[in-house]
Amino acid sequence: MDCLFCKIASGDIPSYKIYEDDFVIAFLDINPVSRGHTVVIPKIHIGSFTEMKPDDAARLFASVNRVTKKLLKALDAPAANVGLNNGKIAGQIVPHVHVHIIPRYENDGGGSMHSIVSAEVDTDEIEELASRIINKS
Ligand code: AMP
Ligand code: ZN
Repeated sequence: MDCLFCKIASGDIPSYKIYEDDFVIAFLDINPVSRGHTVVIPKIHIGSFTEMKPDDAARLFASVNRVTKKLLKALDAPAANVGLNNGKIAGQIVPHVHVHIIPRYENDGGGSMHSIVSAEVDTDEIEELASRIINKS
């Protein structure tokens, strides 16, 4: 398969690997937005988060939890943003699911999750949205 992250997982393409277990590897992002920016991927090819089975997603996030703690400790970072771009429109470029861990530092000039998008949403619609979503199997 011609997948960049599969090649990193297999070692065909080198990376700065910082963690590995049965299910994932974590490596430093080649184009970091903060000091220690890390990407965590499953070793098996899965295109996106919403293509994952819940059990696999749980395993991925258990490892993300370990790696985040390890990073903050090693780099003396007080905080982190942890998240993923699910799908092209959300900014996913590499089509192999990956979680970004972005260590954060005092006065680093960054924002929160809220700075990703600020679309106009009619707040009167929230109740209707909730019932539409809850009734979807
Ligand atoms: P996304 O936009 O969520 O698909 O993010 C893909 C991430 O992978 C970006 O932050 C890239 O900088 C990172 N990336 C791409 N190629 C490599 C590579 N060879 N080694 C490490 N990180 C990479
Ligand atoms: Zn892949």
